[in-house]
Amino acid sequence: MRNCISCYQQITDDVNFCPHCGAKQSQLHTQEEVRATHQETENKPVVIIIVLAILTICGSIFTIGRAVLYELVGSMANDDGIMIRAGIYVFASIGTIAGAIMMLLKKMNGLYLYTVCQIIYIIAATFAAIAHNSKENLASVIFVFFVAPSILFLIFYWIKDVRKHLK
Ligand SMILES: [Zn+2]
Repeated sequence: MRNCISCYQQITDDVNFCPHCGAKQSQLHTQEEVRATHQETENKPVVIIIVLAILTICGSIFTIGRAVLYELVGSMANDDGIMIRAGIYVFASIGTIAGAIMMLLKKMNGLYLYTVCQIIYIIAATFAAIAHNSKENLASVIFVFFVAPSILFLIFYWIKDVRKHLK
Protein backbone atom coordinates (compact mmCIF):
# COMPACT_ATOMS: atom_id res chain seq x y z
CA MET A 1 0.00 0.00 0.00
CA ARG A 2 0.99 3.63 -0.54
CA ASN A 3 -0.65 7.04 -0.36
CA CYS A 4 -2.08 9.12 -3.19
CA ILE A 5 0.22 12.02 -4.02
CA SER A 6 -2.77 14.37 -4.16
CA CYS A 7 -5.40 13.37 -1.56
CA TYR A 8 -3.09 11.18 0.65
CA GLN A 9 -5.65 8.35 0.83
CA GLN A 10 -4.33 4.81 0.85
CA ILE A 11 -4.20 3.17 -2.57
CA THR A 12 -2.77 -0.10 -3.87
CA ASP A 13 0.66 -0.16 -5.50
CA ASP A 14 -0.57 -1.36 -8.89
CA VAL A 15 -2.87 1.58 -9.83
CA ASN A 16 -1.67 4.50 -11.97
CA PHE A 17 -4.59 6.73 -11.04
CA CYS A 18 -6.01 7.33 -7.57
CA PRO A 19 -9.48 5.71 -7.24
CA HIS A 20 -10.50 8.46 -4.75
CA CYS A 21 -9.53 11.66 -6.57
CA GLY A 22 -8.25 10.46 -9.95
CA ALA A 23 -4.79 12.00 -9.61
CA LYS A 24 -2.07 10.36 -11.71
CA GLN A 25 0.43 8.54 -9.49
CA SER A 26 4.16 8.69 -10.03
CA GLN A 27 5.98 5.42 -9.28
CA LEU A 28 8.77 7.38 -7.60
CA HIS A 29 6.77 8.45 -4.58
CA THR A 30 7.19 6.14 -1.64
CA GLN A 31 4.91 6.37 1.36
CA GLU A 32 7.62 8.19 3.30
CA GLU A 33 8.10 10.83 0.59
CA VAL A 34 4.37 11.47 0.37
CA ARG A 35 4.16 11.85 4.13
CA ALA A 36 7.09 14.30 4.09
CA THR A 37 5.48 16.48 1.39
CA HIS A 38 2.19 16.38 3.25
CA GLN A 39 3.93 17.48 6.43
CA GLU A 40 5.64 20.30 4.54
CA THR A 41 2.40 21.70 3.12
CA GLU A 42 0.79 21.38 6.57
CA ASN A 43 3.55 23.40 8.21
CA LYS A 44 3.80 26.11 5.55
CA PRO A 45 0.86 28.30 6.70
CA VAL A 46 2.16 28.16 10.27
CA VAL A 47 5.45 29.59 9.00
CA ILE A 48 3.49 32.31 7.18
CA ILE A 49 1.67 33.21 10.41
CA ILE A 50 4.95 33.42 12.34
CA VAL A 51 6.60 35.61 9.67
CA LEU A 52 3.53 37.87 9.37
CA ALA A 53 3.16 38.16 13.15
CA ILE A 54 6.83 39.07 13.68
CA LEU A 55 6.66 41.73 10.93
CA THR A 56 3.38 42.99 12.40
CA ILE A 57 4.88 43.30 15.89
CA CYS A 58 7.98 45.12 14.51
CA GLY A 59 5.75 47.46 12.46
CA SER A 60 3.55 48.20 15.47
CA ILE A 61 6.53 48.97 17.71
CA PHE A 62 7.74 51.35 14.99
CA THR A 63 4.27 52.96 14.86
CA ILE A 64 4.27 53.44 18.65
CA GLY A 65 7.70 55.11 18.39
CA ARG A 66 6.41 57.35 15.63
CA ALA A 67 3.31 58.19 17.70
CA VAL A 68 5.46 59.18 20.70
CA LEU A 69 7.37 61.51 18.36
CA TYR A 70 4.03 62.95 17.16
CA GLU A 71 3.00 63.51 20.79
CA LEU A 72 6.18 65.57 21.27
CA VAL A 73 5.63 67.50 18.05
CA GLY A 74 1.95 67.98 18.91
CA SER A 75 2.65 69.27 22.40
CA MET A 76 5.33 71.65 21.10
CA ALA A 77 3.05 72.91 18.34
CA ASN A 78 0.08 72.87 20.71
CA ASP A 79 -1.80 70.84 18.12
CA ASP A 80 -4.56 68.71 19.67
CA GLY A 81 -5.29 67.02 16.34
CA ILE A 82 -1.80 65.51 16.14
CA MET A 83 -1.94 64.40 19.78
CA ILE A 84 -5.31 62.68 19.38
CA ARG A 85 -4.10 60.92 16.24
CA ALA A 86 -0.91 59.82 18.01
CA GLY A 87 -3.05 58.44 20.85
CA ILE A 88 -5.11 56.46 18.33
CA TYR A 89 -1.91 55.05 16.77
CA VAL A 90 -0.65 53.90 20.18
CA PHE A 91 -4.01 52.34 21.08
CA ALA A 92 -4.33 50.57 17.69
CA SER A 93 -0.70 49.39 17.77
CA ILE A 94 -0.97 47.84 21.23
CA GLY A 95 -4.13 46.03 20.12
CA THR A 96 -2.38 44.92 16.93
CA ILE A 97 0.56 43.47 18.89
CA ALA A 98 -1.84 41.66 21.24
CA GLY A 99 -3.69 40.28 18.20
CA ALA A 100 -0.46 39.10 16.56
CA ILE A 101 0.63 37.33 19.76
CA MET A 102 -2.79 35.65 20.00
CA MET A 103 -2.43 34.49 16.39
CA LEU A 104 0.99 33.02 17.24
CA LEU A 105 -0.90 31.05 19.90
CA LYS A 106 -3.26 30.01 17.06
CA LYS A 107 -6.24 31.88 18.45
CA MET A 108 -8.82 33.04 15.88
CA ASN A 109 -9.81 35.92 18.21
CA GLY A 110 -6.35 37.34 17.61
CA LEU A 111 -7.21 37.82 13.93
CA TYR A 112 -10.41 39.70 14.84
CA LEU A 113 -8.59 41.94 17.34
CA TYR A 114 -5.82 42.56 14.81
CA THR A 115 -8.35 43.39 12.07
CA VAL A 116 -10.33 45.88 14.21
CA CYS A 117 -7.13 47.63 15.37
CA GLN A 118 -5.70 47.77 11.85
CA ILE A 119 -8.92 49.25 10.45
CA ILE A 120 -8.75 51.95 13.17
CA TYR A 121 -5.09 52.52 12.24
CA ILE A 122 -5.82 52.65 8.48
CA ILE A 123 -8.65 55.18 9.01
CA ALA A 124 -6.42 57.38 11.24
CA ALA A 125 -3.50 57.20 8.78
CA THR A 126 -5.82 57.93 5.85
CA PHE A 127 -7.12 61.02 7.66
CA ALA A 128 -3.51 62.06 8.29
CA ALA A 129 -2.76 61.70 4.57
CA ILE A 130 -5.87 63.72 3.67
CA ALA A 131 -4.84 66.39 6.19
CA HIS A 132 -1.47 66.64 4.43
CA ASN A 133 -3.11 66.81 1.04
CA SER A 134 -1.91 70.37 0.48
CA LYS A 135 1.64 68.98 0.61
CA GLU A 136 0.99 66.35 -2.02
CA ASN A 137 4.27 64.44 -1.63
CA LEU A 138 3.84 63.87 2.09
CA ALA A 139 0.32 62.53 1.55
CA SER A 140 1.53 59.93 -0.95
CA VAL A 141 4.47 58.99 1.30
CA ILE A 142 2.01 58.31 4.14
CA PHE A 143 -0.11 56.19 1.81
CA VAL A 144 2.75 54.17 0.32
CA PHE A 145 4.67 53.54 3.55
CA PHE A 146 2.03 53.46 6.27
CA VAL A 147 -1.38 52.69 4.77
CA ALA A 148 -0.64 50.33 1.86
CA PRO A 149 1.48 47.82 3.88
CA SER A 150 -1.25 47.70 6.49
CA ILE A 151 -3.89 46.90 3.88
CA LEU A 152 -1.64 44.24 2.28
CA PHE A 153 -1.06 42.59 5.66
CA LEU A 154 -4.80 42.51 6.33
CA ILE A 155 -5.31 40.72 3.00
CA PHE A 156 -2.49 38.23 3.73
CA TYR A 157 -3.90 37.43 7.17
CA TRP A 158 -7.35 36.78 5.76
CA ILE A 159 -6.05 34.31 3.13
CA LYS A 160 -7.84 31.01 3.80
CA ASP A 161 -4.60 29.05 4.26
CA VAL A 162 -3.53 31.29 7.10
CA ARG A 163 -6.97 31.52 8.66
CA LYS A 164 -7.61 27.76 8.81
CA HIS A 165 -4.67 27.34 11.17
CA LEU A 166 -6.31 29.55 13.78
CA LYS A 167 -9.01 28.20 16.06
ZN1 LIG B 1 -6.18 10.74 -4.52
